[in-house]
Amino acid sequence: MRRYSFPALVLHALRGHQHWPRVLRSPDPRPVYDAVIIGGGGHGLATAYFLAKQHGMRRIAVLEKGAIGLGNSGRNTQVVRSDYYHLPSSKFFERSLQLYESLSRELNYNIMLSQRGKINLAHSPHEMEMQRRTTNAIRMNGVDAEMLSVEDLRRLEPALNFNGRYPIEGGSVQWRGGLARHDAVVWAFARAAGALGVDIVQGCEVTGFLIENGRATGVETTRGRIAAPRVCMAVAGHSSVLARKAGISLPINSMALQAMVTEPVKPMLNHLLMSAVVHVYVSQSDRGEIVLGGGADIYHSYAQRGGLPAMETIAQAAVELYPSLGRLRLMRQWAGIVDITPDTSPIMGLTPVQGLYISGGWGTGGYKAIPAGGETMAWTIANDRPHELITDFGLGRFAEGALVDEGAASGVAH
Ligand SMILES: Cc1cc2nc3c(=O)[nH]c(=O)nc-3n(C[C@H](O)[C@H](O)[C@H](O)COP(=O)(O)OP(=O)(O)OC[C@H]3O[C@@H](n4cnc5c(N)ncnc54)[C@H](O)[C@@H]3O)c2cc1C
Repeated sequence: MRRYSFPALVLHALRGHQHWPRVLRSPDPRPVYDAVIIGGGGHGLATAYFLAKQHGMRRIAVLEKGAIGLGNSGRNTQVVRSDYYHLPSSKFFERSLQLYESLSRELNYNIMLSQRGKINLAHSPHEMEMQRRTTNAIRMNGVDAEMLSVEDLRRLEPALNFNGRYPIEGGSVQWRGGLARHDAVVWAFARAAGALGVDIVQGCEVTGFLIENGRATGVETTRGRIAAPRVCMAVAGHSSVLARKAGISLPINSMALQAMVTEPVKPMLNHLLMSAVVHVYVSQSDRGEIVLGGGADIYHSYAQRGGLPAMETIAQAAVELYPSLGRLRLMRQWAGIVDITPDTSPIMGLTPVQGLYISGGWGTGGYKAIPAGGETMAWTIANDRPHELITDFGLGRFAEGALVDEGAASGVAH
């Protein structure tokens, strides 16, 4: 992969940034592939990368109906963490965080990982007790977590409002939790997959599946028919829409999840903070903007906008925690469509159609899962059975009642 020396970068700048080599090829789709991945978000691209890198598969296509990274992978609030309660989630998300910790080196692309600590606030003695129990469980899973007293929090986040309507009693923290730059993660996987020969075909929507005797043999697209013995759906907010075209019904609710940023200010917020009681999470971007998010809008939608009521609730909650934010103007607001399952855990693995795989149901928290999602789905596709880290996340669990209920993973579950 090409690396630029400092003088070479200066030379490009003096040339007016012309004649840069293309970062990505722009191939036309071929009629046949060994594997087709639908969706050019983080999960689709990471799956293609690991298929090529770890399983030596060469004829792989990622088919994206728009442009890569313009779905949820480019719309999220960048939270990465692994402080999950149940063992299957804990093992899976911890693997993902470990991969994030070495991802810049692995992909030769700075993903701007900032492990600044992710703090859950507790607003009552009851909540402190529940966080103590959760922290214990997380530590017993082998993941870092610890309790914080109110004095710790005064030292760590002096601008917090400790004596508001919901006084702060303390909290818990995962110090390895934090943020990573979302566009960088998408482009890093895209560039690395492209360099291994993966065809990333943009502007190519999958409109149907070719299925013979219960086995996937390819896809119908807006750019023609493509044959492939392995097909994987990684389309986040449209999983149930696409799966229905293969005759599969998914237990999913699709809703808008929104986020927003204020105008930039000097550094005032040192960590990533979440409050399940006032229902908001806040961080400060490298540009100085305060990034705000909360729960999903409470109605079904495929419009990537989000409504005013959720926006107002999130802004109010942020001002409850940090009254000084009330003087800032909101600069931007946006939303993505999130597919939420009954237990808020993902759906990963095989489907009732042979050779058709799914990575979906990521709800509000699939960004942190991109590296491990890609790695385990690639293994699953290559071996036609679920990777050991995802056996609990199969579609069959809804019929069996073996749910992995992570609804309380953080209250505002990101
Ligand atoms: C506002 C917001 C904040 C969030 N914050 C966080 C966070 O802080 N931390 C976290 O872990 N997660 C967060 N998430 C969730 C996270 O962003 C997603 O779970 C994750 O990005 C899903 O990745 P993906 O690759 O599966 O989907 P996407 O990035 O959405 O990619 C799917 C792609 O599939 C394409 N596609 C759809 N249908 C077709 C078709 N028929 N043919 C071809 N292509 C198709 C779409 O165009 C899209 O590009 C947030 C989400 C939102 C909306």
